[in-house]
This record gives sequence, C-alpha cells and structure tokens, in this order.
Amino acid sequence: MLDADFFRRWMTGAAAAVDREAGRLTDLDSAIGDADHGANLQRGFAAVVKALEGDPAGTPGAVLVLAGRELISTVGGASGPLYGTLLRRTGKALGDAAEVAPVQLAEALRVGVAAVAQLGGAKAGDKTMLDALEPAVEALAESLGASFAAAAEAADRGALATVPMRARKGRASYLGERSVGHQDPGATSSALLIGALAGAEAA
Ligand code: ADP
Ligand code: MG
Ligand code: MG
Repeated sequence: MLDADFFRRWMTGAAAAVDREAGRLTDLDSAIGDADHGANLQRGFAAVVKALEGDPAGTPGAVLVLAGRELISTVGGASGPLYGTLLRRTGKALGDAAEVAPVQLAEALRVGVAAVAQLGGAKAGDKTMLDALEPAVEALAESLGASFAAAAEAADRGALATVPMRARKGRASYLGERSVGHQDPGATSSALLIGALAGAEAA
C-alpha cells in the first residue's frame, strides 16, 4: 500500500529531478519554444516542496491536490495548469483514503491524464507531455499498478518518440515543420515525473 509519505517522496524526488535537469529542459524549450520550461518547473516544484513542508497533508489525495494547486498558482507557462491539473485530478480520484493500492494509483493517474488531454485539447502524437504520460499510464495499468519501473521506461520511450513528430499543440506548433527533429520539453519533464514515481518506491 502507498501512504502519504510515499506521495511526499514522489513530489520531493520530482523536484530534485527537475532541479538536476533544468538546464536540459530549458535547452529543449529553446529549440522549439521560449526557453523557460526548466525555470518554470523549478519554480513550481520548489513551491510544491515548500507547501508540503508547511502542510500536514496526511493522505495521498491531499498531497497531490496540494501539489497541483501550487503548480497552477506558481507556474505561468502552459505546463503549470496542465501539470497542476494532472496532480489535482489524480489526487481527487484517490479520495481521502490514508493508503491506496498501486492499482488505485494506476486508475487515478488515468483520470488525471485524461483531464490533461481535455484541458489542452491534445492527443497522443501531437508532440506534447501526453506522448510520455499516456504510454506510462498504459504500462502501469498493464502491470495492475505493480511496475512503476515499466511506467518510467514507457515514459522515457514516449519522450524520445516525440523527436520526429510535428507539434500540433502549444508554442512549438507555431514552428510547424521546424518543430520536427527536436524532443518535446514537456514530454521530457513528464518522463522525469514518472521516473520520480519509480524512485519513490525504491526509497
Ligand atoms: P510555455 O510553452 O507556455 O512556455 P512550458 O515551456 O513550461 O510552457 O511548457 C511547454 C510544454 O507544455 C510543451 O513542451 C508541451 O509538452 C506542453 N504543452 C503545451 N501545450 C500543451 C497542450 N495543449 N496539451 C498538452 N501539453 C501541452
Ligand atoms: Mg516554454
Ligand atoms: Mg513560456
């Protein structure tokens, strides 16, 4: 079973990964966007860690809802509301149980990812974060929530698969054909987020 501490470790691990990879995320965003993705997520996840430190959020759902709210209020770019929605909706789907089974998290993440697709109007193949998130959720569901490592590998592969895609949503879509040949920054950060999930389990 996964308790609130597991979800706190997930968010802290995501913040650390974003810090470590901020330069790379910004480089990717400078190729097909406006070079702020690393800084956007660093600011957002730093706020998440700070908010969690000051809040007793004692259930998995409460941890994710709080994290989502912080991302929405601190990240100005497109990714803030999208990641915020992912975590908030996943957290709401977990309800107020003190502990959740991995299979419940798999189901809740599916709800969260669907909310991202609805908010952004994007689908798989549009060269966005969904190209990492959707395969991750599928891999997790296939293992009945048992393999966060499989989800992380699927997210990594999904992020890599955005290289040859032409962007159809977000800032990169303004480039049209010129977006081809670059990895999507948001798909890359999504792979970090799912990787941190696997890391929280190992901890
Ligand atoms: P901004 O583009 O506002 O500067 P960021 O640089 O923080 O925001 O985030 C860019 C990332 O957001 C993109 O790489 C992409 O993955 C994701 N993104 C942008 N628009 C959408 C959308 N409509 N649906 C899903 N993801 C999106
Ligand atoms: Mg940007
Ligand atoms: Mg921006």
